Amino acid sequence: MKNVTGARCTLCGHVTEALPGTTVCPECGGILDIEYDYDYIRSKLTKYDLMDREEPGMWRYMEFLPVEGIGNRPRLRVGGSPLYRASGLEKKLGLKTLYIKDDGLNPTASLKDRASAMAVVKAEEAGKTTIACSSTGNAASSLAGNAACAGLSTYIFVPSRAPKGKVAQLLMFGATVVLVEGSYEDTFRISAEAIDRWGWYNRNAAINPYLMEGKKTVSLEIAEQLGFKMPDYVAVSVGDGCTVAGVWKGFKDLYEAGFIDRLPRIISVQAEGCCPINTAAAAHTMNWVPQEENTLADSIAVGVPRNPVKALRAIEESHGVTVNVSDEEILDAMRILGREAGVFAEPAGAAGTAGLVKALDTGLIEKDASVVSIVTGNGLKDVSNAIRAAGEPLSIAPDMDKLLEAFEKKGIKP
Ligand SMILES: *Cc1c(COP(=O)(O)O)cnc(C)c1O
Repeated sequence: MKNVTGARCTLCGHVTEALPGTTVCPECGGILDIEYDYDYIRSKLTKYDLMDREEPGMWRYMEFLPVEGIGNRPRLRVGGSPLYRASGLEKKLGLKTLYIKDDGLNPTASLKDRASAMAVVKAEEAGKTTIACSSTGNAASSLAGNAACAGLSTYIFVPSRAPKGKVAQLLMFGATVVLVEGSYEDTFRISAEAIDRWGWYNRNAAINPYLMEGKKTVSLEIAEQLGFKMPDYVAVSVGDGCTVAGVWKGFKDLYEAGFIDRLPRIISVQAEGCCPINTAAAAHTMNWVPQEENTLADSIAVGVPRNPVKALRAIEESHGVTVNVSDEEILDAMRILGREAGVFAEPAGAAGTAGLVKALDTGLIEKDASVVSIVTGNGLKDVSNAIRAAGEPLSIAPDMDKLLEAFEKKGIKP
């Protein structure tokens, strides 16, 4: 890979060669960060070249990615998700400029597809035919789907609280699914033991430095969709921290390669009931403290984050804003995304928007700002919380009088 110079440890700074099977730092076990030769990238690609490319999806950014190519196996189409100008929401919130990046429209319905597509390619490069991961749900379903398309097999460990929609996806994609009766922390530990024992390719996002490189394509896309004019803020929900770190890395790559001339600030959103990263970020310390996992937003219910260093650096470097939201605020955001923008988000998918709403209400950010809010997962994954947010439908006997009665009772005037 001529564009990649190596993998640098986020803890001790040691640089190793970026090989297909590279995971953590051989010196200290720290998480690695893939580094690029931006002069090389600049010499191979301009933003005008990029705009001429026809291929939709994440692989159009090949020069920014740690792969030689993507081989001959079939691939799901990951990325290329829409960026909507959300004028209904702008009006409702009194915000000057708001875009919604709907990454719930990826093939398995979450942003995690970007990481899993990368994992599958790297596993093939490493000569592996079996991939494993532990996940709060979406990493798993995206891995299972992307692997199924390419003809690889998967072992998946999820906490037993994972919503049914996500478990159904796993089974449908033919994964061997292990529900672990315990927290995400317990699930992660047992998956790591099994991966060691059987030598599977490891898709655990915080251990595998390539996954974040897949996730960063969401930012490359946002930039391209905005004609490389950066917004003031990008709001995103945070669990392990790989997504926020990837989002930041994507913008930084573009900046280093001269594609953009300023960087947005991150709005880092966690749930009040589980916010170890935001708590540390707000105190400007790297010393995060584990928390319980008390939120209905299962995808960000991460009490022991796996990628705190990269996440905290991303928030700090971007002069980021941290916002913690209640479950009620998340349900509200799901409702307004649906009603004002036609976007259906799962709770963690709407959390970024909930954080934006709160940041506006509390004056943390200015009403005349421009903001991109990333919806990270689709609402169909977690229908019971969607119903909780949106309420039950009218229910009647098939009779016009009953319909009139029901409308009357609800104050509906057709
Ligand atoms: C995984 C996930 C997140 C958070 O990503 P992390 O890398 O764990 O911080 C947010 N929203 C959804 C829908 C997710 O699946």
